[in-house]
Amino acid sequence: MDKARRRAIAGAFKIVGAAALGSMVWSAAAKAKPNAIWLRPPAALPEKEFVAACIRCGLCVEACPPKILKLADFGDKAPLGTPFFTARSNPCIMCPDVPCVPICPTNALNEDLIKGDDGKMNIDNSKMGIAIIDSEHCIAFEGLRCEVCYRECPVQGAITLDFRQNERTMRHAMFIPVVDHKLCTGCGKCEKRCVTAKAAIFVVPTELAGSFGAHYARGWDEKDQERVEGQGGEAHKKPNSKKTLDRLNSGEF
Ligand code: SF4
Ligand code: SF4
Ligand code: SF4
Repeated sequence: MDKARRRAIAGAFKIVGAAALGSMVWSAAAKAKPNAIWLRPPAALPEKEFVAACIRCGLCVEACPPKILKLADFGDKAPLGTPFFTARSNPCIMCPDVPCVPICPTNALNEDLIKGDDGKMNIDNSKMGIAIIDSEHCIAFEGLRCEVCYRECPVQGAITLDFRQNERTMRHAMFIPVVDHKLCTGCGKCEKRCVTAKAAIFVVPTELAGSFGAHYARGWDEKDQERVEGQGGEAHKKPNSKKTLDRLNSGEF
């Protein structure tokens, strides 16, 4: 789609109410592949709302100076036509003026989400994802000096080095990278530069980090039990505390 056409469409959506029309046009094509991971531009709404609000106009993609954003094509992991980036090849460079955000005509990228106390956008407030360290493959855990991710990280304090004694040699120090998830923006620069063949530090979308998979039902959460049962899964049976007490009081033990 050429630039003029995208702008015209974006203008039209501004007038008629973008979210509803956008989801009508694209909903059939917007089904994501299961278990796939992709990263959204800064200030994106939570994934479900984002997919409903984004009209696939590509203005954010055009506005991105290093051209790291891409509209998902057939075969890409993200829902068709939505903007995403891949940290390992093209991380976000965290432009101080965040040009991809205010240009969004539908607030799928919402300035308010990254505004500081002064009312101005601050890219450091963005949460594109969270960097996770794979201690099995990070060479620092083998006692080797690396620190590439530490040096690449543009956010002060998002990665620190934890000095530990190397218990294998008992003579050397280990410099273990630690991510502060409150400060990490998910830009992906660490993932891009990681020296291992498959990055030992990688960014996952904030909503996925630490959340339970669709197949797992929390035994203590009734709503979660219903959700899994509704999907054909088997929920844990809630323990019957009265029965347990009766048994304990029965003298059987
Ligand atoms: S902050 Fe800059 S590099 Fe990152 S997505 Fe926006 S325009 Fe692109
Ligand atoms: S996020 Fe906004 S600017 Fe980017 S494609 Fe979607 S609607 Fe257009
Ligand atoms: S993604 Fe990596 S480089 Fe970017 S802020 Fe987080 S730890 Fe630092």
